[in-house]
Amino acid sequence: MNCLFCQIAQGAIPAYIIYQDDVVIAFNDIKPHAPQHLLIVPKKHISTLNDLETEDTLLVGHMVQTASRLAKENNIAEDGYRLVINCNAGAGQTVFHLHLHLLGGRQLAWPPG
Ligand code: AMP
Ligand code: ZN
Repeated sequence: MNCLFCQIAQGAIPAYIIYQDDVVIAFNDIKPHAPQHLLIVPKKHISTLNDLETEDTLLVGHMVQTASRLAKENNIAEDGYRLVINCNAGAGQTVFHLHLHLLGGRQLAWPPG
């Protein structure tokens, strides 16, 4: 499939990989919006949040658990961090393979733009 994040998950396109297991891969965002900006990506191709199925419940939980653990390991958990999933163009989604942004290392404004 001609999908950027599938190709990164398969090792066909390089990325700065922070963590991976059978279910997820986490790597640095190529255009970071914060001092720490990781993407937590399921190895299974799911285009958007709209495409989640009941069988994906554990997968999504594992994405969030992985983000929480990586935030602690990167020492941003105490100060604070943000998890974001953009769904479709109106929310700014540009890569149509589900991914969780982990942002931290600076004060984050609220509400987002
Ligand atoms: P979104 O706009 O929510 O779909 O997020 C897609 C993210 O993927 C953006 O923050 C991009 O900077 C990031 N991105 C695009 N290409 C790459 C790549 N080759 N390696 C790492 N991150 C990427
Ligand atoms: Zn994909």
